[in-house]
Amino acid sequence: MLDNLGSNLKDALRKLAGKTVIDRAAVEELVKDLQRALLQADVNVKQVMQLSQTIKKRALDEQPPKGVTAREHVLRIVYEELVALVGQKVEVTLGKQIILMAGLQGSGKTTTTAKLARFFKRKGMRVAVICADTFRPGAYTQIKTLCDKVHVPCYGDPSEHDARKIVREGLAQLKEEVIIVDTQGRHALEDDLITEIIDLNEITKATHRWLVLDAALGQQAREQARRFHEAVSIDGVIITKMDGTAKGGGAMSAVAETGSGIVFIGQGETIEDLEWFDPNSYISRLLGMGDLKALAERVQESIDEQDIDVNAMLSGKFTLRDMYRQLEAVNKMGPLKQVLSMLPLGGMDLPTEALDVTASKMGKYRVIMDSMTATELDDPTVLNGSRIQRIAQGAGAQLEEVRELIKYYKMMKRTFKGLKGGEKGMQRLMKKFGK
Ligand code: GDP
Repeated sequence: MLDNLGSNLKDALRKLAGKTVIDRAAVEELVKDLQRALLQADVNVKQVMQLSQTIKKRALDEQPPKGVTAREHVLRIVYEELVALVGQKVEVTLGKQIILMAGLQGSGKTTTTAKLARFFKRKGMRVAVICADTFRPGAYTQIKTLCDKVHVPCYGDPSEHDARKIVREGLAQLKEEVIIVDTQGRHALEDDLITEIIDLNEITKATHRWLVLDAALGQQAREQARRFHEAVSIDGVIITKMDGTAKGGGAMSAVAETGSGIVFIGQGETIEDLEWFDPNSYISRLLGMGDLKALAERVQESIDEQDIDVNAMLSGKFTLRDMYRQLEAVNKMGPLKQVLSMLPLGGMDLPTEALDVTASKMGKYRVIMDSMTATELDDPTVLNGSRIQRIAQGAGAQLEEVRELIKYYKMMKRTFKGLKGGEKGMQRLMKKFGK
């Protein structure tokens, strides 16, 4: 996630929320704050100027629809314009398809190929990968290892230098529904690299040509997107390493400007860290409006066997037992921080302690909770000094650790309670937005 951009945008909106009247001065101040935030994220000056002109004009000229306050109206305009800035949603179909992966070396192409294989597999498709990267030594082993992890067959021949031949043979052998072809990259765009990708596009008759770009390129993503687009008409861009740079906003808006939509974003090194990109959801989250749809999907995926009642959690009925199940599920859902970013926090910042619980600490907490009785898990208010001592002894833990766990539990309970109000308000607002 674009942490900096997100918190700057949220600050700007919070300032707006604190105003008694939304007049020209308030709109101008908001626009200035937005400009600063976007420029810091490396969004191109021209795009920032255009966006701020539009927001200002719309905010001052358009009348809020009935039942919508001036403040909500401005928030809606900001939301819509930011969605437009990052481009159109690219549909991903679950039919038979061949996907050709393009991109320079180091962009994250190989990792992303494996992430995509996992994505389609989890959607119930039969998937295979062809390694046509004959340039980089070790490319085949790298992709093969990753494919093995997700039980996806990988076709390749490390001793063959002709990528075209590998692809022809691979396609003749593989019968899977989704075939992802990982092509070679270079450090720079060279003519023979472009020729090869054009050839592979013809040989594979690819359904999709997806370009992998490193978010750290910022605005420079525009040039790469343009060159590859000219060669093979890119129909989806995957921006990787969104987790590691403040320049992601620049890369996203630059790509959108070339007319190629963003199809996925990568936000971590592990194979799960891939997100199907939806401009509406993404901007909602960036502005702290939450993304209940994505959260519901994520939760559904990992919770089926865990039996967690999210609604009960949000209604403040949160016991230690819930927390135990939550800790178990969190591993599957991904980092807590990412999961919580999908909740509609309405610009509220979560205490950092809530997010900084490491995996090893979670493990320890689970051991401690294993030493608790059913009564204690269901009603943590019974926990007194002697019970804490017994639990610590049983778990082989320090008294301090048990107290820390209880403190953590109380904080989580408060946080979830706090979310409830935010959620209602935001859901109402999203309804007005017609989402
Ligand atoms: P390729 O040369 O384009 O095939 O690039 P690789 O797939 O080998 O990736 C290059 C480096 O970027 C590796 O260290 C990956 O682990 C890392 N990487 C790829 N995608 C992401 C991402 O979304 N986030 C982070 N933090 N690292 C990534």
